[in-house]
Formats: sequence, C-alpha cells, structure tokens
Amino acid sequence: MNVPAARVVFSGDDRSEAAAAVMEILAGGSLTLGPWTERFEAAFATAHAVPHAVGVCSGTAALEIALRIVGVADRDVVVPANTFYATAAAVLHAGGRPVFADVEATTFALSAVGVEAVLTPTTAAVVLVHVGGLITPEVDALRRLCDSRGIALIEDAAHAHGCTYQGRFAGSFGLAGAFSFYPTKLTTSGEGGMLVTDSLELRDEARVYRDQGKGSFTTNHHVRQGYSWRLSEVNAAIGEIHLRRLKEFIDIRREVASRFTAALAAMPGLEPLVEAPGCRSNFYKYMVLLPEGVDRALFKREVFERFDVRLPGEVYDLPLHRQPVLAEFADGPLPVAEDVCARHICLPIHSDMRSDEVDQVLSALSAVHADLIG
Ligand SMILES: *Cc1c(COP(=O)(O)O)cnc(C)c1O
Repeated sequence: MNVPAARVVFSGDDRSEAAAAVMEILAGGSLTLGPWTERFEAAFATAHAVPHAVGVCSGTAALEIALRIVGVADRDVVVPANTFYATAAAVLHAGGRPVFADVEATTFALSAVGVEAVLTPTTAAVVLVHVGGLITPEVDALRRLCDSRGIALIEDAAHAHGCTYQGRFAGSFGLAGAFSFYPTKLTTSGEGGMLVTDSLELRDEARVYRDQGKGSFTTNHHVRQGYSWRLSEVNAAIGEIHLRRLKEFIDIRREVASRFTAALAAMPGLEPLVEAPGCRSNFYKYMVLLPEGVDRALFKREVFERFDVRLPGEVYDLPLHRQPVLAEFADGPLPVAEDVCARHICLPIHSDMRSDEVDQVLSALSAVHADLIG
C-alpha cells in the first residue's frame, strides 16, 4: 500500500453538494462576489470567532491587501526566513522591503527577541507565520512589541485554519489574518483566500481593494490601487461546503498526531515539534527534526523505496534569504532558520488518514531510524 504525501478529501456528499451549487450558480448568473461568497465569509468568521471575513482569490492576495491597507510602500516588513515565498512576495507587491528574521527551533516561528533584532526606524509591519499550524506562545509578546513601536502585526495564517492559542483563534492576534484555500491547505476552495479582522474599517477597505479599488461594486470610481482579487462564486461554494468539515478534519489529524508523538518517544534522535502549552494545532503539518548529520534525502528515499511512504515537502527546505529571486534582501546568516530548514522532515498526515496508514508510516520510521540513526 502506498501512503501518499498529501490527499485532498471531498466525500461523495460534499462532491454532490458542490455540483448542485455549481448548477445553481450557473442558472442564477451571479458568478463572482455573490451570495456564496457572503455565506463563506460568514461561516469562516464564525468558525474563527472573528467579526469580519473578506473572501478573495488567494491567500497571497489576502496578505497583500492587509499590507496595502497598513501602507508598507518603501518601508520594511519583517517576515520569518523559513516561510513560503508568497509571504515575501506579498510584501514586494505592496511596495515594501522584506526583512528576514530568525526563528525559534521549538516552534519554527518568530519571537519578540528575534523581531526586535531586525527592527528599523522604517519598519511598518511584522508578518507572523504559524508554520504547520503551531501557534507560538510568543504571540502576546510580539503583539506588545508591535503595539509599543506603532508597527502592525499581520498573521500569515495559511496553515492555521481553526488553530487556537489559549482559546483564541489564529487570525485574531494582530490587525488582520490571511488564510489560504489552496488545494493542499486544511480546507480548500480550489483557489481562494480570506482576510479576517476585528476592524470594520479594515473590512471595508479590503472589500474596496479586492475589486480593483472601486469605491462601490456597481461604479467605476476607483479610490485605491486595488487589483483583480475577487473570489468567484464557484470557488466560494466549494470553500463553504469544505469548511463544514473543519472540525472533523482537525479531530482526525490530532488523533494521528498523538499516535505519531507517542511512537516517536521510542525513537531517540527524532524530535517532533509539539504544541506549546495553550496551543491547539490543526496539524496541517507534522514536523520532526532529524539529528545533525543525517542525510535527509537518503532518509526520505529509504522510507519511500522500502515502505512506499511518501514524505511531503518541507516547510521549508530553503530559507527565503537563500532564494535567488530574493538575494538582494539577504543580510547575513540566520542560523536557526537555516538549521531547521535543513534538518526537518514532515510526516504524511491526511484529513481522512486510516489507522493502517499510520501503522505503515510508523513501521517505516522505526526501521529507517534503526538503520540511519540507531
Ligand atoms: C499557501 C501559502 C500562502 C499563499 O496562499 P495562496 O492561496 O497559494 O496564494 C502564503 N503563505 C503560506 C505560508 C502558505 O503556505
């Protein structure tokens, strides 16, 4: 049996509902920013206990809109070095300069000390990324630091649907949170994104930005430098239908994660990233640090060739300050980010993962651990 790196999970019922929704949308003729977008926004806001959500065409668009509202043009924006390219791309497209900060090895996330080290007089925003769905206990210290310096805290919550820290949801720790519904994310709409905020003013601004900066949906009066960031009704319908599974998906993933964590305790040298006290992850990723000196490519190859288990891609294998296209923003080494990028693996974890698949992953890990780590 093959255990794949990732699996998109739509039940038969969900597919039928999505198909019916597409029929209804085509018959009704409202194809973008219509009633399904509103339903999706309302459901997402409720699921994350935030007052406002604005649907857009991607997570990157949600981030760029938040940064444009803050106003980062010709200013610095702190991002972690170990994040997806999109976090920095949104900064660039909003006219800002990405400044890479180092992270903590226990959470893969920014810390207040790490951010403070790279602040400049022109820092406009800090983008906190909840890598793999873990929420760092540094969130409150980061918020205090940003507030005291008049800097906006934005969350890249692309991995963090439904995650909480001390009962508070991802997306609610700063000025705004950006979620993605790319197919591999916890829930998907095919393509799509959501900006959440507790500010009514920010919600209204985001609605203007997402539709070409128009002052209203029905006029051609452009008041902001917006773009074509609308969410189509077909994507919104799929997103709303999939979102109904969020709790069920998280419960299954947490169950799998607890089996992984229990079994890894017997494999010294393999160090899983565990939730900090107060954090409840969605286990979008299950991340494990390998000991120094272990060849990750070889480890992954053994697990696949001998046990048919595909490990998913890393989060992330090459830090942003080493990416060719971002070279001009690199400014010296960031040792922790470089180390964790080079040294971790992710275990396959799916929203419908079966017990026999978990067994197979654990047999593979145990055997390859014995051979390569001992
Ligand atoms: C997926 C992702 C994004 C971008 O989302 P899109 O919907 O693909 O634009 C941004 N940041 C992180 C960390 C992501 O994983």
